[in-house]
Amino acid sequence: MAVLTSTRTVRIGLDIGGTKIDAVALGAGGEVLATDRRPTPTGVLDVVSTASAVVTGLVGGLGGPVHLDGIGIGIPGLVDPVDGTVRNAVNLGLGPDPVDLADLLSTAVGGVPVVVENDVKATTWGAYTLLAPPGDLALLSLGTGLAAGLVVNGELLRGAGSAAGEIGHLALDPRGHVCNCGQRGCLETLAAGSALQRDWPHGDEGRSADHLFAAADAGDPRAGAVLERWLAGVALAVRTLGLTCDPSVIVLAGGVAGVGEPLHRSVSQALRRQARGSAFLTGLALDERLALLPTDRPVAAIGAAATAARTHPGAFTPGR
Ligand SMILES: [Zn+2]
Repeated sequence: MAVLTSTRTVRIGLDIGGTKIDAVALGAGGEVLATDRRPTPTGVLDVVSTASAVVTGLVGGLGGPVHLDGIGIGIPGLVDPVDGTVRNAVNLGLGPDPVDLADLLSTAVGGVPVVVENDVKATTWGAYTLLAPPGDLALLSLGTGLAAGLVVNGELLRGAGSAAGEIGHLALDPRGHVCNCGQRGCLETLAAGSALQRDWPHGDEGRSADHLFAAADAGDPRAGAVLERWLAGVALAVRTLGLTCDPSVIVLAGGVAGVGEPLHRSVSQALRRQARGSAFLTGLALDERLALLPTDRPVAAIGAAATAARTHPGAFTPGR
């Protein structure tokens, strides 16, 4: 009995991105016990074996008896959290055929239940867990794509077709750039990290954003114009979320959010500019609801672990 009473219950979260896997082990109270980060290999089987090695390493590093009662994965692409499959994760080389990621990893780690969640939703849940806002939360992910995650009444919103929060595909400009979704002039083509990178290419999205903000700050008029146009799109995305769900906090996330406080400040200013002349919009004070993700913790991995810990009607259970 002494062994049983000293066994620690642990959940592991894995944020599997295009370049790195961020991992975290959480205790029963949600406290961070250990973290790990490794480069993402190419190919499904290598991703699974690396993820399995990360899990084994985290559990082994904790010392003492550990009960691993769940693993959550956050991953880009089209995720079916009910059957644990993912497809169209372009950065990971996953095509249109569903891959049973939950099943593969569960088998590799001896049958521990695994749940899979879209990375934006996992990050959204992590932000909700860490920020503990007084009301609903929206997270605006400004990465290669533009999408929002929504927590309404304490639950991640999915919708009938898993499209809740896909505001990046609001088609706004019939003469705009062609979007990956097949439409033209989508909000994503104006305000995603990839839109900024397209108009100010200096390395990846994060580096391009850093460079653009610095150039605009230094007085480069072309940079100023590119940044102002991009910020107007981001502010429109924030306004869309504000007017759809009226959340108490709107979190800026994704590859360009690494810019940090200058991004927060600039989007706030753009929101105030757009609200000028409208007592209605000004009264909503959306600029005061903006927040950045905590940078000292792996939010997406924490969200993935917390997703695994929740009572999930579609949670994968080996032998089901
Ligand atoms: Zn689109």
